[in-house]
Amino acid sequence: MAQNSNKGSAVYDPSFDAHSPKQLTLMSELHQSIENQELELFYQPKVRVKDGVLTGAEALVRWNHPKHGLLGPDLFIPLMERSRLIQGLTSWVIQEGFAQCAQWHQEGLDIVLSINLSAKDLNNPELPDLIAGIKGATGINPAWITLEITESSLMTDPDAAMAVINRIHAMGFQFSIDDYGTGYSSLSYLKQLPLKELKIDRSFVSDIVQNESDAVIVNATINLAHNLGLEVTAEGVEDADTLALLKAEGCDIVQGYYLGRPMTKDAFSQWSQEQES
Ligand code: C2E
Ligand code: CA
Ligand code: CA
Ligand code: CA
Repeated sequence: MAQNSNKGSAVYDPSFDAHSPKQLTLMSELHQSIENQELELFYQPKVRVKDGVLTGAEALVRWNHPKHGLLGPDLFIPLMERSRLIQGLTSWVIQEGFAQCAQWHQEGLDIVLSINLSAKDLNNPELPDLIAGIKGATGINPAWITLEITESSLMTDPDAAMAVINRIHAMGFQFSIDDYGTGYSSLSYLKQLPLKELKIDRSFVSDIVQNESDAVIVNATINLAHNLGLEVTAEGVEDADTLALLKAEGCDIVQGYYLGRPMTKDAFSQWSQEQES
């Protein structure tokens, strides 16, 4: 569990135990969280390595719990994934993310917004229509949106997942494979999916300066991705040395606390203006 202390970023209540019987209470509270407007999207910058330009942001959900304060997604998304609650969360995130992205483009902030889909979402045949509806309502250009999926989300029913992905891609939305290297990777699906981006998981990135085998894995992954025509994002970049090494390896985009923490939408707007000046 990440414990952040920076202003404007997530601060999680350390006394909160997700494994206690409180889970049951939490579950019923989750039912109300959307209606009560307790969910909030934070935005973390994605920066192009070669020139340091802000090119995107990843939307990361937080729950402003009335008693426990700001809770991170690791505490409540797994709970929601056990029921149909996750569908409500996903439609809320898409609605909120598309609307915010449309507003940023109206204000002249030309960025691509990455939105996380849950494994369950790809087994929902109604997801393409939901996305089409929100696209129409917000006037979003699908080229401004990247949907992040994980390797494991393809495993339950690969054909169904592939069908959902292809229908959404046909509308013009981009796809990214998230947490690459942590699931059961298969090169065959990498080839079959309409992917734009591969994100190397933080667990491989954070130690590359000290750990030779991590550096080898990251180097090989960047080459593989480039040979498949994919853009590579490294996540979890926490210091200048890691960034320098990734630059030398030809990584395209970086994300991590060194570049910027997940921020509220207002903090992100302000941060992006400071980058320009
Ligand atoms: P993820 O998609 O891999 O997101 C990256 C996580 O790494 C985020 O944690 C982010 O705050 C954290 N992070 C970013 N840079 C650094 C860094 O430099 N160092 C360290 N130690 N951590 C960093 P977060 O926000 O707690 O999200 C956890 C996971 O929850 C996400 O992992 C994603 O799988 C899931 N998630 C977040 N938002 C959503 C959402 O809207 N929908 C769904 N389905 N899942 C979400
Ligand atoms: Ca992600
Ligand atoms: Ca990730
Ligand atoms: Ca992750």
